[in-house]
Amino acid sequence: MKRWQTFSIFEKVAVVLLAVGAMLGGILWMAMNAKASANRSQRATPAVVAPQRAAPIAPVAAAAPTRPSAPATSLKPALPAVLPATLPRACAEALRPTAIKDTAANTSVDAKTTVRMLAAMDLAIPVAGIEKAALYDSFSDVRGKRMHEAIDIHAPRGTPVIAAGAGCVVKLFRSVPGGITLYQYDLEGNFAYYYAHLDRYVDNMAEGTQLKRGDVIGYVGTTGNASPSAPHLHFAIYRLGPEKRWWVGTAVNPYAVFTYQ
Ligand SMILES: [Zn+2]
Repeated sequence: MKRWQTFSIFEKVAVVLLAVGAMLGGILWMAMNAKASANRSQRATPAVVAPQRAAPIAPVAAAAPTRPSAPATSLKPALPAVLPATLPRACAEALRPTAIKDTAANTSVDAKTTVRMLAAMDLAIPVAGIEKAALYDSFSDVRGKRMHEAIDIHAPRGTPVIAAGAGCVVKLFRSVPGGITLYQYDLEGNFAYYYAHLDRYVDNMAEGTQLKRGDVIGYVGTTGNASPSAPHLHFAIYRLGPEKRWWVGTAVNPYAVFTYQ
C-alpha cells in the first residue's frame, strides 16, 4: 500500500475527486428515491367518494379477511373486506351502455364544464318543498380535517328526500359519519348523487331500484354524526371515474349546480 505522502499531486487530486463524486452520487440517488416514493404515495391517494362519509363499515356478511390494497389510503377506517360489485345488475341494465364507456373522456372535463353539464340536467333540489333561495353554499367549509364537499339542506325530520334526477340506486350504505345513506347514479353513469343522514329509506328501497327525478327515496333525519337538533340532508355529487365505483369520484359543488345561471 502506497503512503499518502508518496502520492503525486495528480494522484491526490484524483482520489479527492473520486471521493467527492461518490458522495454527490449518493446524495443524488437518495434525493431521487425520496421523490419517487413521494410520487408513488400521491398516486396512491385516489379521489374518493364522500371522503367524510364513504368510510364504509364492512358489512356483517363480508367476513373475508383480506383487505384490498388500492384505495386503502383514503378509505382507511373500514373498506369492505369484499368489495361490492360495481353496479347492481338492474342498474347495469338501466344505465345507457354507450354512456358507461365514455367516461374516461369525461374525467378530463374541467369543473366549470361539469357544473354546466349538471345544470343542464335540471336536477331537483333533493328535499321536498325546499326552494333554491333556501340553499346555502357550504361545499368548501372545513369539517374536521377535510373539506365538506357537499351541501346541507335543513328541513324538519321526516321531510321526504327525493331523487335529484333519474337514475339507479347503486348502494344503500350505513356509515359512522353519514348514518343511513344512499348512492344513486344518473342514467348516463357519469355522476353519483349521495344522500346522507337519512332518518330511514322509503319502504321497499333496494339497490338496483330505478328512480325518476323527484321519486321519494327516504326521509330527512340525523343519523350518523348530524346533530340530533338539526335534521338535514347532506347531499353531494361526484363525477365517477371510468371504473364506476360508487366510493370513488370527484366532488362537484351542488350549490353551484342548483344556482347555475
Ligand atoms: Zn354535510
